Amino acid sequence: MKTFDELFDTKKRALINQVVAYTNDKLTKEAKYFDETGEFPQEFLSPLLEQNVFSFLLSNDKLDLAVFLEIIRIISKKFASLASILLTQGFYAIHPLNKFGTKEQKEKYLGELVSGKKIGAFGLSEESDDSHFNPELKTIAWETDDGWEISGRKKYLSDAPIADVFFIVAKVQRLNNSVDTGIFIIDRNQEGLVVNEPMNKMGVRSLPVASVDLNKVKLDRNSLLGGVTKGSHQVKSVLNLMKLAVSLQALGISQGSFEKGMDYLCLVRKFGNRLIDNQDIQYKMADLRASIYSAEAFTRQIILTDPQNTVDVAMAKLLTANVAIETTETVIQLTGGYGYMKDSEIERYVRDAKITAIYGGSSRSQKETIAKHWIDNRGEKYSGN
Ligand SMILES: Cc1cc2nc3c(=O)[nH]c(=O)nc-3n(C[C@H](O)[C@H](O)[C@H](O)COP(=O)(O)OP(=O)(O)OC[C@H]3O[C@@H](n4cnc5c(N)ncnc54)[C@H](O)[C@@H]3O)c2cc1C
Repeated sequence: MKTFDELFDTKKRALINQVVAYTNDKLTKEAKYFDETGEFPQEFLSPLLEQNVFSFLLSNDKLDLAVFLEIIRIISKKFASLASILLTQGFYAIHPLNKFGTKEQKEKYLGELVSGKKIGAFGLSEESDDSHFNPELKTIAWETDDGWEISGRKKYLSDAPIADVFFIVAKVQRLNNSVDTGIFIIDRNQEGLVVNEPMNKMGVRSLPVASVDLNKVKLDRNSLLGGVTKGSHQVKSVLNLMKLAVSLQALGISQGSFEKGMDYLCLVRKFGNRLIDNQDIQYKMADLRASIYSAEAFTRQIILTDPQNTVDVAMAKLLTANVAIETTETVIQLTGGYGYMKDSEIERYVRDAKITAIYGGSSRSQKETIAKHWIDNRGEKYSGN
């Protein structure tokens, strides 16, 4: 497999090496503390912001996207929640604004989001069936004479407890009765916007999450992202990149768990034997290695060819999330009581892996996307040549 490293220029490679060194030296030691406390790891996010990691999302260059996604993978090997913060900021805030925002909207928010001075949150999910797949939005923005009035409830917004600005997806009800979809940019201090209490979670525990209520929030015309009601198109672009980022996170979690497992399996035990000397264990680890490797090759190919190919991206997310869950569960099984104990840090990977099959759209919704493609294109071959 051609590695990203071979494709990156010296500057990009140097940055990646710095992130690897930072992750190994600093993050490895800290992830356990932040998992236990659920605190926001600002002091460990700041050095990455100083490296200007979000600036890679401002270009259309696929190699720049690849750099950012490599950073997500590397950090996820040791500290998945920090990667969650980076990827949600990157693809739920910076990407929509940079790609679709008007000049004024970018001037107002983009610089501070990229530098990390401001935090953004993205609200799509609602109390409806898997709203990332087929949103029937109950949050409605009514057009008024001078802008919009928006009401509804959004659930599970990453980073919402500390966010300064919200990107809220809503059904748009025009004065002329036409209906559409839009993304609205709303400041935290806007009257009528209520951020609820942070929620306690199974994994990625340093990623703060909360629901948000919108009670007749009055907005001026400029608050519609890009000034157009092209929300469906905008959401699709956001979700495709979000799913790719989650795929890289899933790969990082798989690789981190695999390495932790191997460290233990290779330890010499009481009577001089090692667990890895059992053929059954070798085969199980070989299966995992092959799955991780092939999932990584497939996902990298999509990044370098067509990161906005919805069906390919759905396959990558489905595959990598399955690999992460299978890897982490196999590793905890093979490491027995040791892996089950918090001190081993092996059980954390099991908890962190699960989110990759949920946020950015559940694994079920990825399967629907893949299957829908056959149904919509009946004449097309579905299994290659
Ligand atoms: C930590 C975390 C962070 C998140 N961050 C964000 C965020 O920043 N912004 C945001 O908008 N959302 C966010 N989400 C929400 C996330 O995207 C959704 O949880 C996810 O899309 C699944 O939707 P749901 O929770 O509504 O599941 P539900 O719709 O309640 O579905 C539950 C399960 O049933 C399945 N299911 C649903 N409908 C059907 C059906 N008709 N037939 C068969 N099976 C079905 C689903 O696939 C899923 O597995 C976050 C979630 C978590 C846990």
